[in-house]
Amino acid sequence: MFYSCSEVVENIPFTREIAKKYIVEAGIFNLAKIDLLIDCIVIGEPNFNTELFLTTDEKRNLGLNTRLKIEKELIDFFEIDKIKGLNPKDEIHKIYFRLFHYFSILRNVKKFKQMGAKKALFLCCDDERTCSFCKNNNNKKIDISDDLAEYIDKNCSCYKNKRIGGNIAFEYEYE
Ligand SMILES: [Zn+2]
Repeated sequence: MFYSCSEVVENIPFTREIAKKYIVEAGIFNLAKIDLLIDCIVIGEPNFNTELFLTTDEKRNLGLNTRLKIEKELIDFFEIDKIKGLNPKDEIHKIYFRLFHYFSILRNVKKFKQMGAKKALFLCCDDERTCSFCKNNNNKKIDISDDLAEYIDKNCSCYKNKRIGGNIAFEYEYE
């Protein structure tokens, strides 16, 4: 159930720092368990018992979809009063998608900047899961700056729909 970010990240302490920021921003996670949750996301393996599941009654009492299979210990990553109506696994996947997206852009910006690219063409698939930021920037050219990845990460909310946001194609321009 967990994906590893290891193919896209180079610096583990830095990744953990970014993951921490996303987890805090989400406002639904139990911050006492934040380091364990970061391990799960960054290392890509569950570090809890995956054999024990919530009973139907337990799920009902927590306001969770009773048809979902949810590990008992997965729930420890969350603030119990914040998970009503959510799919806990999805919420963790959203953090992963956002990290994946951020590091992909960061890596691309670095690479294309070294090659002399000045502008980036913002391309995204455009459907009902695409956020308004991506929709508004689709097919537009934006300047390549060191904080381009931060800028897109801050504004794009595609990860909320578990979609990797805008695909960036880089173009070289003289001016
Ligand atoms: Zn987006």
